[in-house]
Amino acid sequence: MRLLIMGAPGAGKGTQAAKIAEHYGIPAISTGDIFRANVRQQTELGKQVAQILAAGDYVPDELTERIVVDRLDQPDAADGFLLDGFPRTMHQVDALDDYLTERGRQLDAVLVLAAKPEDLIGRLLKRAEIEGREDDTEETIRYRMEVYQRNTKPLLDHYDQAGLLVRVDGLGTTDEVCERIFAALDAAVDGRAAAGNDDRP
Ligand code: AMP
Repeated sequence: MRLLIMGAPGAGKGTQAAKIAEHYGIPAISTGDIFRANVRQQTELGKQVAQILAAGDYVPDELTERIVVDRLDQPDAADGFLLDGFPRTMHQVDALDDYLTERGRQLDAVLVLAAKPEDLIGRLLKRAEIEGREDDTEETIRYRMEVYQRNTKPLLDHYDQAGLLVRVDGLGTTDEVCERIFAALDAAVDGRAAAGNDDRP
């Protein structure tokens, strides 16, 4: 399975990504986690992106794409992966499409966790307290939400046109949402197989 998971900050992507990855036996790759780990460890990359993350802005495309390509080239991602938090711009979408095309591969589905921004802001503030995430002040959260809405629309349109979009209601308990996701993904992939379109490498 080659999957993307998309959703506004706080939609529960990280939690669900771990469950989906375990279910399908694929690595969950979160660009946000990679950046945060580098900031913590004060690597060269971490020093480069620390301010950007703290402000809630996007790391430049070329840098982000290089990191994702390196990660996807690791052996554990050869047969499948779940990308969380990438792509976030059309430039990144094109980079991912090119990467997969060059290797004769395709995405199986793009999962969207749908939720209302106001519900998510409350959730994020709670998480900030628990996890001590420095990029999760109310001001930054609202800003990140705006950035997400503004930038994501064209991405969703792109994947919708490609027939890959799978929308799931992100409201509910972790288990409820998880069940919905498995059902929706299985239906999407089986539906494609039934249509005789499952010759994906
Ligand atoms: P996330 O954990 O996915 O919310 O990401 C946290 C932060 O990492 C974002 O606010 C950005 O600063 C940065 N980041 C993560 N993924 C990307 C991406 N695909 N492109 C640019 N910046 C990213």
